[in-house]
Amino acid sequence: MNDSSSVLNDSATRSLLQAHDVSLSYGNGPRAVDGVSFELQSGEIGSILGPSGSGKSTLLRGIAGFEQLKEGTIAMNGATLSTPEFSIAPEKRNIGMMFQDYALFPHLSVSQNISFGLRNWKSTDRENRVHNLLKLIGLGDYGDRDPYSLSGGEQQRIALARAIAPKPKLLLMDEPFSSLDIEICNTLIPEVRLILNQENISAIMVTHNHDIAFSMADKIGIMKAGRVHQWDMPFNVYHNPVNRFTARFVGEGEFIKATVVSDQMLQSTFGLHAFQNDYGLKIDDQVEILLRPDDILHDDASPLTGTIVRKSFRGSIYLYTVNLEDGQSFYCLADSHHDHQLGERIGLRLNIEHIVLFRKNQQEALRTLIPSQIER
Ligand code: ADP
Repeated sequence: MNDSSSVLNDSATRSLLQAHDVSLSYGNGPRAVDGVSFELQSGEIGSILGPSGSGKSTLLRGIAGFEQLKEGTIAMNGATLSTPEFSIAPEKRNIGMMFQDYALFPHLSVSQNISFGLRNWKSTDRENRVHNLLKLIGLGDYGDRDPYSLSGGEQQRIALARAIAPKPKLLLMDEPFSSLDIEICNTLIPEVRLILNQENISAIMVTHNHDIAFSMADKIGIMKAGRVHQWDMPFNVYHNPVNRFTARFVGEGEFIKATVVSDQMLQSTFGLHAFQNDYGLKIDDQVEILLRPDDILHDDASPLTGTIVRKSFRGSIYLYTVNLEDGQSFYCLADSHHDHQLGERIGLRLNIEHIVLFRKNQQEALRTLIPSQIER
Protein backbone atom coordinates (compact mmCIF):
# COMPACT_ATOMS: atom_id res chain seq x y z
CA MET A 1 0.00 0.00 0.00
CA ASN A 2 2.91 2.34 0.67
CA ASP A 3 4.49 3.80 -2.44
CA SER A 4 8.09 3.28 -3.41
CA SER A 5 9.14 6.30 -1.35
CA SER A 6 8.64 4.10 1.66
CA VAL A 7 12.00 2.50 1.00
CA LEU A 8 14.03 3.38 4.05
CA ASN A 9 17.37 5.03 3.73
CA ASP A 10 20.72 3.59 4.79
CA SER A 11 20.35 4.56 8.42
CA ALA A 12 17.08 2.62 8.70
CA THR A 13 18.41 -0.05 10.97
CA ARG A 14 19.54 2.39 13.66
CA SER A 15 17.26 2.94 16.58
CA LEU A 16 16.30 6.62 16.83
CA LEU A 17 13.67 6.89 19.54
CA GLN A 18 13.27 4.57 22.50
CA ALA A 19 10.21 4.74 24.76
CA HIS A 20 10.53 2.40 27.72
CA ASP A 21 7.64 1.70 30.10
CA VAL A 22 6.32 5.26 29.75
CA SER A 23 3.39 6.34 31.92
CA LEU A 24 1.78 9.78 31.99
CA SER A 25 -1.18 11.25 33.83
CA TYR A 26 -2.76 14.65 34.38
CA GLY A 27 -2.42 15.78 38.00
CA ASN A 28 -3.55 12.97 40.26
CA GLY A 29 -5.85 11.54 37.59
CA PRO A 30 -5.69 8.03 36.14
CA ARG A 31 -2.91 7.08 33.77
CA ALA A 32 -3.62 8.54 30.33
CA VAL A 33 -0.59 6.59 29.08
CA ASP A 34 0.15 3.36 30.88
CA GLY A 35 3.44 1.47 30.55
CA VAL A 36 4.12 2.12 26.86
CA SER A 37 7.29 0.79 25.21
CA PHE A 38 8.32 0.98 21.58
CA GLU A 39 11.29 1.81 19.43
CA LEU A 40 11.38 3.86 16.23
CA GLN A 41 14.19 3.22 13.79
CA SER A 42 15.98 6.07 12.05
CA GLY A 43 14.15 6.87 8.80
CA GLU A 44 10.93 5.22 9.93
CA ILE A 45 7.47 6.74 10.12
CA GLY A 46 5.48 5.40 13.06
CA SER A 47 1.80 5.91 13.65
CA ILE A 48 -0.05 5.75 16.94
CA LEU A 49 -3.52 4.51 16.02
CA GLY A 50 -6.40 4.28 18.44
CA PRO A 51 -9.86 5.55 19.35
CA SER A 52 -10.51 8.97 20.85
CA GLY A 53 -9.34 9.22 24.46
CA SER A 54 -6.91 6.29 24.21
CA GLY A 55 -3.91 8.49 25.13
CA LYS A 56 -2.36 9.11 21.70
CA SER A 57 -1.95 12.88 22.03
CA THR A 58 -0.73 12.56 25.60
CA LEU A 59 1.97 10.13 24.49
CA LEU A 60 2.98 12.54 21.71
CA ARG A 61 3.11 15.43 24.19
CA GLY A 62 5.30 13.30 26.46
CA ILE A 63 7.73 12.65 23.59
CA ALA A 64 7.71 16.37 22.72
CA GLY A 65 8.56 17.22 26.33
CA PHE A 66 5.34 19.06 27.21
CA GLU A 67 4.32 16.56 29.89
CA GLN A 68 6.39 15.14 32.72
CA LEU A 69 6.64 11.35 32.85
CA LYS A 70 5.12 9.52 35.81
CA GLU A 71 7.25 6.50 35.01
CA GLY A 72 9.66 5.27 32.38
CA THR A 73 12.23 6.73 30.04
CA ILE A 74 12.22 8.40 26.64
CA ALA A 75 15.54 8.56 24.81
CA MET A 76 16.65 9.66 21.36
CA ASN A 77 19.82 8.32 19.77
CA GLY A 78 20.62 6.79 23.15
CA ALA A 79 20.51 10.14 25.01
CA THR A 80 17.84 10.46 27.69
CA LEU A 81 15.15 13.07 26.95
CA SER A 82 12.72 12.38 29.80
CA THR A 83 12.45 10.47 33.04
CA PRO A 84 10.14 11.30 35.97
CA GLU A 85 12.99 13.32 37.52
CA PHE A 86 14.50 14.84 34.41
CA SER A 87 13.31 16.52 31.24
CA ILE A 88 15.06 18.25 28.38
CA ALA A 89 13.13 21.35 27.29
CA PRO A 90 10.94 20.83 24.18
CA GLU A 91 12.89 23.34 22.08
CA LYS A 92 16.17 21.56 22.86
CA ARG A 93 15.00 18.11 21.73
CA ASN A 94 15.56 18.47 17.99
CA ILE A 95 11.93 17.46 17.51
CA GLY A 96 9.48 19.23 15.18
CA MET A 97 5.72 19.43 15.70
CA MET A 98 2.82 19.59 13.28
CA PHE A 99 -0.80 19.61 14.34
CA GLN A 100 -4.15 19.44 12.61
CA ASP A 101 -5.03 22.87 13.99
CA TYR A 102 -1.49 24.18 14.20
CA ALA A 103 -2.60 27.35 12.46
CA LEU A 104 -0.25 29.17 10.15
CA PHE A 105 0.41 32.74 11.19
CA PRO A 106 -2.09 34.82 9.19
CA HIS A 107 -0.11 38.07 9.34
CA LEU A 108 2.98 36.38 7.83
CA SER A 109 3.59 35.36 4.24
CA VAL A 110 4.16 31.73 3.26
CA SER A 111 7.96 32.27 3.33
CA GLN A 112 7.84 34.03 6.67
CA ASN A 113 5.81 31.18 8.11
CA ILE A 114 8.36 28.62 6.91
CA SER A 115 11.31 30.63 8.21
CA PHE A 116 9.68 31.17 11.61
CA GLY A 117 11.87 28.63 13.41
CA LEU A 118 15.03 29.79 11.66
CA ARG A 119 15.44 33.13 13.40
CA ASN A 120 18.89 32.17 14.65
CA TRP A 121 20.13 31.11 11.22
CA LYS A 122 22.34 33.33 9.05
CA SER A 123 20.09 35.19 6.64
CA THR A 124 21.57 33.61 3.48
CA ASP A 125 21.23 30.11 4.98
CA ARG A 126 17.68 30.92 6.02
CA GLU A 127 16.74 32.19 2.56
CA ASN A 128 18.26 29.13 0.90
CA ARG A 129 16.46 26.78 3.24
CA VAL A 130 13.09 28.47 2.65
CA HIS A 131 13.69 28.53 -1.10
CA ASN A 132 14.53 24.80 -1.12
CA LEU A 133 11.56 23.90 1.06
CA LEU A 134 9.15 25.86 -1.12
CA LYS A 135 10.42 23.87 -4.10
CA LEU A 136 10.23 20.62 -2.13
CA ILE A 137 6.56 21.16 -1.24
CA GLY A 138 5.74 22.18 -4.82
CA LEU A 139 4.92 25.80 -3.93
CA GLY A 140 8.03 27.44 -5.39
CA ASP A 141 6.19 30.57 -6.54
CA TYR A 142 4.03 31.01 -3.47
CA GLY A 143 6.56 32.53 -1.04
CA ASP A 144 4.95 35.97 -0.93
CA ARG A 145 1.36 34.75 -0.75
CA ASP A 146 -0.93 34.98 2.24
CA PRO A 147 -1.22 31.34 3.44
CA TYR A 148 -4.97 31.69 3.96
CA SER A 149 -5.48 32.44 0.27
CA LEU A 150 -4.35 28.83 -0.39
CA SER A 151 -6.16 25.47 -0.24
CA GLY A 152 -6.24 23.18 2.81
CA GLY A 153 -3.74 20.78 1.25
CA GLU A 154 -1.38 23.65 0.37
CA GLN A 155 -1.64 25.06 3.88
CA GLN A 156 -0.79 21.66 5.33
CA ARG A 157 2.28 21.46 3.08
CA ILE A 158 3.36 24.86 4.39
CA ALA A 159 2.81 23.66 7.97
CA LEU A 160 4.99 20.66 7.15
CA ALA A 161 7.72 22.89 5.67
CA ARG A 162 7.59 25.12 8.75
CA ALA A 163 7.88 22.10 11.07
CA ILE A 164 10.84 20.56 9.25
CA ALA A 165 12.66 23.80 8.38
CA PRO A 166 15.04 23.60 11.38
CA LYS A 167 15.95 20.04 10.29
CA PRO A 168 14.64 18.13 13.30
CA LYS A 169 15.61 14.46 13.66
CA LEU A 170 12.01 13.59 14.50
CA LEU A 171 8.70 15.12 13.47
CA LEU A 172 5.61 14.62 15.62
CA MET A 173 2.26 14.97 13.84
CA ASP A 174 -1.09 15.02 15.61
CA GLU A 175 -3.96 14.13 13.23
CA PRO A 176 -2.29 16.11 10.41
CA PHE A 177 -4.72 14.98 7.72
CA SER A 178 -8.00 14.81 9.59
CA SER A 179 -9.39 18.11 8.32
CA LEU A 180 -8.62 17.27 4.69
CA ASP A 181 -10.74 15.46 2.08
CA ILE A 182 -9.83 11.87 1.32
CA GLU A 183 -8.78 12.82 -2.25
CA ILE A 184 -6.35 15.41 -0.89
CA CYS A 185 -5.02 12.88 1.65
CA ASN A 186 -4.43 10.35 -1.10
CA THR A 187 -2.15 12.82 -2.89
CA LEU A 188 -0.63 14.46 0.15
CA ILE A 189 0.33 11.37 2.15
CA PRO A 190 2.79 9.93 -0.43
CA GLU A 191 4.19 13.44 -0.90
CA VAL A 192 4.77 13.87 2.83
CA ARG A 193 6.42 10.43 2.97
CA LEU A 194 8.73 11.39 0.12
CA ILE A 195 9.64 14.75 1.66
CA LEU A 196 10.43 13.18 5.05
CA ASN A 197 12.48 10.52 3.31
CA GLN A 198 14.45 13.07 1.28
CA GLU A 199 15.05 15.20 4.36
CA ASN A 200 16.03 12.12 6.41
CA ILE A 201 13.48 12.96 9.10
CA SER A 202 11.73 10.24 11.08
CA ALA A 203 8.18 10.85 12.23
CA ILE A 204 5.44 9.76 14.59
CA MET A 205 1.88 10.50 13.56
CA VAL A 206 -1.19 10.19 15.73
CA THR A 207 -4.44 9.23 14.04
CA HIS A 208 -7.73 7.46 14.72
CA ASN A 209 -8.05 6.49 11.05
CA HIS A 210 -6.58 3.11 10.07
CA ASP A 211 -6.54 3.92 6.35
CA ILE A 212 -4.37 6.97 6.99
CA ALA A 213 -2.11 4.99 9.35
CA PHE A 214 -1.75 2.20 6.77
CA SER A 215 -0.85 4.53 3.92
CA MET A 216 1.55 6.66 5.95
CA ALA A 217 3.36 4.44 8.43
CA ASP A 218 6.16 1.87 8.43
CA LYS A 219 5.16 0.83 11.97
CA ILE A 220 1.83 1.18 13.70
CA GLY A 221 1.20 1.24 17.43
CA ILE A 222 -2.34 0.20 18.31
CA MET A 223 -3.39 2.12 21.40
CA LYS A 224 -6.32 1.55 23.72
CA ALA A 225 -6.91 2.84 27.26
CA GLY A 226 -3.37 4.16 27.58
CA ARG A 227 -1.63 0.99 26.40
CA VAL A 228 0.05 0.15 23.13
CA HIS A 229 -1.22 -3.36 22.33
CA GLN A 230 0.89 -3.98 19.26
CA TRP A 231 3.79 -2.12 17.64
CA ASP A 232 4.27 -3.69 14.26
CA MET A 233 4.29 -3.31 10.48
CA PRO A 234 0.92 -2.40 8.92
CA PHE A 235 0.65 -5.81 7.23
CA ASN A 236 1.09 -7.55 10.59
CA VAL A 237 -1.39 -5.48 12.57
CA TYR A 238 -3.97 -6.25 9.87
CA HIS A 239 -3.16 -9.88 9.13
CA ASN A 240 -1.55 -10.96 12.38
CA PRO A 241 -3.26 -8.95 15.14
CA VAL A 242 -2.28 -9.79 18.70
CA ASN A 243 -5.81 -9.57 20.06
CA ARG A 244 -9.45 -9.06 19.13
CA PHE A 245 -9.36 -5.31 19.76
CA THR A 246 -6.53 -4.82 17.27
CA ALA A 247 -8.23 -7.19 14.83
CA ARG A 248 -11.44 -5.16 14.92
CA PHE A 249 -9.93 -1.70 15.08
CA VAL A 250 -7.78 -1.91 11.95
CA GLY A 251 -10.44 -3.12 9.52
CA GLU A 252 -13.39 -5.31 8.72
CA GLY A 253 -13.35 -8.93 9.75
CA GLU A 254 -15.46 -11.64 11.31
CA PHE A 255 -14.71 -14.49 13.65
CA ILE A 256 -16.02 -17.86 12.45
CA LYS A 257 -16.36 -20.90 14.65
CA ALA A 258 -14.11 -23.92 14.33
CA THR A 259 -13.50 -27.12 16.28
CA VAL A 260 -10.23 -28.91 16.86
CA VAL A 261 -10.68 -32.35 15.29
CA SER A 262 -7.10 -33.58 15.47
CA ASP A 263 -3.60 -32.30 16.20
CA GLN A 264 -3.36 -31.20 12.57
CA MET A 265 -6.91 -30.28 11.65
CA LEU A 266 -9.59 -27.72 12.47
CA GLN A 267 -13.15 -28.11 11.22
CA SER A 268 -15.05 -24.96 10.25
CA THR A 269 -18.14 -24.40 8.17
CA PHE A 270 -15.82 -24.29 5.14
CA GLY A 271 -14.28 -27.70 5.77
CA LEU A 272 -11.00 -28.86 7.28
CA HIS A 273 -8.11 -26.45 7.86
CA ALA A 274 -4.65 -27.88 8.33
CA PHE A 275 -2.89 -26.43 11.34
CA GLN A 276 -0.04 -27.11 13.72
CA ASN A 277 -1.24 -27.45 17.30
CA ASP A 278 1.58 -25.80 19.20
CA TYR A 279 -0.40 -24.52 22.15
CA GLY A 280 -2.10 -27.39 23.84
CA LEU A 281 -5.49 -27.28 22.15
CA LYS A 282 -7.43 -30.50 22.78
CA ILE A 283 -9.75 -32.38 20.47
CA ASP A 284 -13.25 -30.81 20.54
CA ASP A 285 -11.89 -27.45 21.81
CA GLN A 286 -13.87 -24.57 20.32
CA VAL A 287 -11.85 -21.85 18.59
CA GLU A 288 -12.52 -18.93 16.27
CA ILE A 289 -10.77 -17.98 13.05
CA LEU A 290 -10.44 -14.33 12.01
CA LEU A 291 -11.61 -13.85 8.44
CA ARG A 292 -10.78 -10.64 6.57
CA PRO A 293 -12.80 -9.60 3.52
CA ASP A 294 -9.97 -10.65 1.21
CA ASP A 295 -10.08 -14.18 2.65
CA ILE A 296 -13.39 -14.84 0.84
CA LEU A 297 -13.77 -13.76 -2.77
CA HIS A 298 -16.87 -13.77 -4.92
CA ASP A 299 -16.62 -16.36 -7.69
CA ASP A 300 -19.65 -17.11 -9.91
CA ALA A 301 -18.20 -20.54 -10.74
CA SER A 302 -17.79 -21.73 -7.15
CA PRO A 303 -20.11 -24.41 -5.74
CA LEU A 304 -19.80 -22.85 -2.27
CA THR A 305 -22.54 -20.22 -1.94
CA GLY A 306 -23.89 -17.72 0.56
CA THR A 307 -26.76 -15.23 0.71
CA ILE A 308 -26.09 -11.49 0.55
CA VAL A 309 -27.44 -9.75 3.65
CA ARG A 310 -25.59 -6.41 3.29
CA LYS A 311 -23.67 -4.71 0.53
CA SER A 312 -21.38 -1.73 0.49
CA PHE A 313 -20.16 -0.13 -2.73
CA ARG A 314 -16.52 0.99 -2.41
CA GLY A 315 -15.86 2.17 -5.97
CA SER A 316 -13.56 -0.49 -7.35
CA ILE A 317 -15.00 -3.24 -5.13
CA TYR A 318 -18.20 -4.36 -3.45
CA LEU A 319 -17.95 -5.47 0.14
CA TYR A 320 -20.75 -7.99 0.58
CA THR A 321 -21.82 -9.51 3.87
CA VAL A 322 -22.99 -13.06 3.21
CA ASN A 323 -24.75 -15.61 5.36
CA LEU A 324 -24.09 -19.32 5.20
CA GLU A 325 -26.86 -21.80 5.93
CA ASP A 326 -25.55 -22.37 9.47
CA GLY A 327 -26.28 -18.69 10.23
CA GLN A 328 -22.67 -17.47 10.35
CA SER A 329 -21.95 -14.34 8.35
CA PHE A 330 -18.74 -12.87 7.00
CA TYR A 331 -17.42 -10.40 4.47
CA CYS A 332 -16.77 -11.23 0.84
CA LEU A 333 -14.95 -9.09 -1.72
CA ALA A 334 -16.16 -8.75 -5.29
CA ASP A 335 -15.02 -6.49 -8.06
CA SER A 336 -17.65 -3.83 -8.45
CA HIS A 337 -18.87 -5.02 -11.86
CA HIS A 338 -20.48 -7.89 -9.95
CA ASP A 339 -23.51 -5.98 -8.74
CA HIS A 340 -25.69 -8.54 -6.95
CA GLN A 341 -28.84 -7.87 -4.97
CA LEU A 342 -29.64 -8.36 -1.30
CA GLY A 343 -31.05 -11.87 -0.76
CA GLU A 344 -29.25 -13.27 -3.81
CA ARG A 345 -27.09 -16.39 -3.44
CA ILE A 346 -23.60 -15.87 -4.79
CA GLY A 347 -20.60 -18.17 -5.28
CA LEU A 348 -17.73 -17.86 -2.81
CA ARG A 349 -14.10 -18.84 -3.19
CA LEU A 350 -11.82 -19.24 -0.19
CA ASN A 351 -8.61 -17.25 -0.42
CA ILE A 352 -7.29 -17.94 3.08
CA GLU A 353 -3.50 -17.80 3.10
CA HIS A 354 -3.08 -17.89 6.83
CA ILE A 355 -5.27 -18.35 9.86
CA VAL A 356 -5.38 -16.16 12.94
CA LEU A 357 -6.83 -18.25 15.72
CA PHE A 358 -8.50 -17.31 18.99
CA ARG A 359 -9.70 -19.52 21.82
CA LYS A 360 -13.41 -19.03 22.37
CA ASN A 361 -13.98 -16.15 24.83
CA GLN A 362 -10.30 -15.21 24.86
CA GLN A 363 -9.05 -11.81 23.75
CA GLU A 364 -5.47 -12.71 22.82
CA ALA A 365 -4.79 -14.35 19.46
CA LEU A 366 -3.00 -17.70 19.57
CA ARG A 367 -0.76 -16.93 16.56
CA THR A 368 -0.72 -16.95 12.80
CA LEU A 369 -0.92 -20.32 11.12
CA ILE A 370 -0.38 -21.28 7.54
CA PRO A 371 -2.87 -23.93 6.46
CA SER A 372 -1.50 -26.22 3.80
CA GLN A 373 -4.95 -26.84 2.36
CA ILE A 374 -8.64 -26.68 3.01
CA GLU A 375 -10.66 -29.81 2.30
CA ARG A 376 -14.43 -29.78 2.05
P1 ADP B 1 -6.44 10.75 22.34
O1 ADP B 1 -5.37 11.63 21.77
O2 ADP B 1 -6.23 9.31 22.05
O3 ADP B 1 -7.82 11.20 21.95
P2 ADP B 1 -5.75 11.97 24.86
O4 ADP B 1 -4.30 11.74 25.02
O5 ADP B 1 -6.18 13.33 24.37
O6 ADP B 1 -6.38 10.83 23.93
O7 ADP B 1 -6.49 11.71 26.23
C1 ADP B 1 -6.23 10.57 27.04
C2 ADP B 1 -6.94 10.73 28.36
O8 ADP B 1 -6.40 11.83 29.06
C3 ADP B 1 -8.43 11.00 28.21
O9 ADP B 1 -9.10 10.33 29.25
C4 ADP B 1 -8.53 12.49 28.38
O10 ADP B 1 -9.78 12.86 28.92
C5 ADP B 1 -7.41 12.78 29.36
N1 ADP B 1 -6.87 14.13 29.16
C6 ADP B 1 -6.36 14.62 28.01
N2 ADP B 1 -5.92 15.89 28.18
C7 ADP B 1 -6.17 16.21 29.48
C8 ADP B 1 -5.93 17.36 30.27
N3 ADP B 1 -5.35 18.47 29.77
N4 ADP B 1 -6.31 17.32 31.57
C9 ADP B 1 -6.88 16.21 32.10
N5 ADP B 1 -7.11 15.08 31.41
C10 ADP B 1 -6.77 15.07 30.11
